Amino acid sequence: MDFTIPDELRAFRETVRAFVDKELIPHEDYVEEYDGLPEEVEREIRRKAVAVGLNGLGMPDEVGGAGLDVLGQVLVTEELFRALGGVAEVVPATPRILLACVGEQRERYLLPCVRGDRQWCFALTEPDTGSDAAGIKTRAELCDGQWVINGRKRFISHGDSADFAIVFAVTHPDRERDRITAFLVDKGTPGFGVGQLHKTMGHRGYRQAELLFDDCAVPAENVLGEPGRGFDIAQGGLSAGRIMTAARCLGPMGRLIGDGVDWAKQRVQFGRPIADYQAIQFMLADCATDLHAARLLTYHAAWAADHGEPPKVVNAKASMAKLFASEALGRVADRVLQIFGGTGYMNETYVERAYRNARIERIWEGTSEIQRVIIASNLLKRGMFS
Ligand SMILES: Cc1cc2nc3c(=O)[nH]c(=O)nc-3n(C[C@H](O)[C@H](O)[C@H](O)COP(=O)(O)OP(=O)(O)OC[C@H]3O[C@@H](n4cnc5c(N)ncnc54)[C@H](O)[C@@H]3O)c2cc1C
Repeated sequence: MDFTIPDELRAFRETVRAFVDKELIPHEDYVEEYDGLPEEVEREIRRKAVAVGLNGLGMPDEVGGAGLDVLGQVLVTEELFRALGGVAEVVPATPRILLACVGEQRERYLLPCVRGDRQWCFALTEPDTGSDAAGIKTRAELCDGQWVINGRKRFISHGDSADFAIVFAVTHPDRERDRITAFLVDKGTPGFGVGQLHKTMGHRGYRQAELLFDDCAVPAENVLGEPGRGFDIAQGGLSAGRIMTAARCLGPMGRLIGDGVDWAKQRVQFGRPIADYQAIQFMLADCATDLHAARLLTYHAAWAADHGEPPKVVNAKASMAKLFASEALGRVADRVLQIFGGTGYMNETYVERAYRNARIERIWEGTSEIQRVIIASNLLKRGMFS
């Protein structure tokens, strides 16, 4: 078994680390205070991110992406998310689903996203359907050559600011399969509006919105992929998405542990640094073990994807990585906050912010329970997958 990370990936990781320290982390206090960055600052971050090759990490060369394999994307994502999500998310990321763009769609949607010039949002979740995503109710009906969308989406990240939405709607309600179609809907299309903006527990600057569709007509050219195949193309990027969610958890874990160690060495109580107390050492040891195990699961899932293991096996490994890393992050944030004592409860510390941010990782991209359903179903059908 070879655990060596290729030299070129190590070098790129160093570049990303320097970028995060210089261009992202200094904006964290502002984002926490004002729940976002000024548009011109976001533009500047995107410009600099593109200059160091951070745009479209998993996108192929021919569309202007970095062309990284999954392991490469994991290493870069881990570094990027050492910064708080509300800042790290400003770096342009293009969802794999946009690779389904054809003809003029490539010029209007895919390429500008890879360049960081246009922002998108992914609109699947609805008030009545979250985990059971195939049960969505938003409808699109073909009338005089146009698709007319009616329905409501909620919890849509960047929904208020995105230039266009990738919207999932039922187009073939009578079918058992192939019922759902994906649409590209531009901001400003009549009948497409933004409803409630949600206030959230963490991730300041990373806003969620309700999206409303009221007789919103889009031309047939705005169908992404084949009519009826929307759910399949959404599912296509699922494993990679879950591996990246696991990777997003590694960055904060590493930073939390670094902060915890520094604090334990310098905080003196009863005449000694608290790092001298075994209670503190054990918490740090458990944190380091959690991070190491989460890294191994995540890097291995990425390696499995890159080495062409069967999709079902990659899916199960991606679910294990996402499940473990997201839960490990919660444990690490909790222990490090304990090590900081009351100081860790104060908003000016990274640990307080990371603790709040950590909670969502067990919910989005499939809750912990859904990951366990996937892992158990694979185990019961195929046995243990090594
Ligand atoms: C901050 C944030 C950002 C988001 N961004 C987006 C976005 O950009 N686009 C988008 O489309 N969606 C987005 N979502 C939605 C997110 O994907 C859903 O919240 C998630 O899928 C869970 O759905 P739900 O919240 O409706 O919970 P539910 O599905 O209602 O689940 C409630 C509880 O029941 C459990 N449960 C459900 N089914 C089962 C089962 N079969 N077995 C065992 N337990 C089960 C769940 O694990 C959970 O504990 C976002 C959500 C949040 C909070």
